[in-house]
Amino acid sequence: MRALTDYDVESLEIELGAWGFKPTHARNLLQSFYAAPGGSEIEQVLGRNLGLALQAKLRESVCARQSKVDHRHESTDGTIKLLIGLNRGGAVETVLMPWYHPGRAAGCVSSQIGCAMGCDFCASTRRGLERDLEAGEIVEQFLHLRQCAAEKGRRLTSLVFMGMGEPMHNLDNVIAAIRRIAGPGLGMLGWKHITVSTVGIVPGIERLMDADLNVHLAISLHAPDDATRQKIVPTGKRWKVADIMAAGRRFEAKTGRIPTIEYTLLAGVNDSEEQAVLLADLLEGFRAHVNLIPYNSIGPGLSGAVYRKPEEARMNRFLEILRARRVVAHFRRTRGDDVNAACGQLREMTQVSILHQT
Ligand code: SF4
Repeated sequence: MRALTDYDVESLEIELGAWGFKPTHARNLLQSFYAAPGGSEIEQVLGRNLGLALQAKLRESVCARQSKVDHRHESTDGTIKLLIGLNRGGAVETVLMPWYHPGRAAGCVSSQIGCAMGCDFCASTRRGLERDLEAGEIVEQFLHLRQCAAEKGRRLTSLVFMGMGEPMHNLDNVIAAIRRIAGPGLGMLGWKHITVSTVGIVPGIERLMDADLNVHLAISLHAPDDATRQKIVPTGKRWKVADIMAAGRRFEAKTGRIPTIEYTLLAGVNDSEEQAVLLADLLEGFRAHVNLIPYNSIGPGLSGAVYRKPEEARMNRFLEILRARRVVAHFRRTRGDDVNAACGQLREMTQVSILHQT
């Protein structure tokens, strides 16, 4: 059975028409669904303006949701990690982060179950790629997060695609989901409140740019030179740092959105003063912002290497060098690490123990 989250207005119009009903009901139906607190049950959507025959057909053919929250872990800092079970099989982790402003929260969603990219410092890739998520399954993560935020007296005001998976490898579904999450009359989150992250898949960056979604881009660089990057990010062998940065510059020139460069600091691997200088060189004349992420421990990587977070002084020196070169750079606050909800820690687990390291 399909869920309402599987449809956009056009596809529901076609479905209603095929069932012999007026396609014009599609927009109102989806508007009531997205407006209902928490995404709603099918009964809540079946308003009085729908005829009895259409109501009966909808009850028989469509469900409101295709997922449910199986586990919920709350960190001492307020971060909430949800393990969401999917009717089509498998589960994904998604994270709600308390925002700096009272009353707001940010969400982090997954685009795939598992990940094929093999980044050595990331838990999401350990069991490889299980499958791509359907657009509706991504939309439902947003709805669960919105509901979870409301229960906490907060409003979900931004969403990042930095959970499990490489969004550019499931881009059709990611784009379809974004149109429903951000679109007027549907999720209404707003395009500029959404960020899509990539480990540097150049054709994906180009496609996102051409999709005219007006969303933000985050590039998980993690090293300023190809030799270091290839040791920790296997896709570095396919996409070179120079090609990725050139794609980032084209994205900025075309969309006007300033990309974020995500950089996980690993002691003795990518945290030297020379590497900070190289990173600043790469960003010369490029308005990208750098997010420095202190490594979150996941145990040995796929290669067997054990990584560590650099000493505080070393991380501060890295930041200082970037800022001295007028690079806009910040540390990303670690959130939810006590429930393994921090960057790089996401995986499908039911125990307190799921994220894209970006
Ligand atoms: S960091 Fe992102 S792209 Fe790399 S393995 Fe983890 S989820 Fe996949």
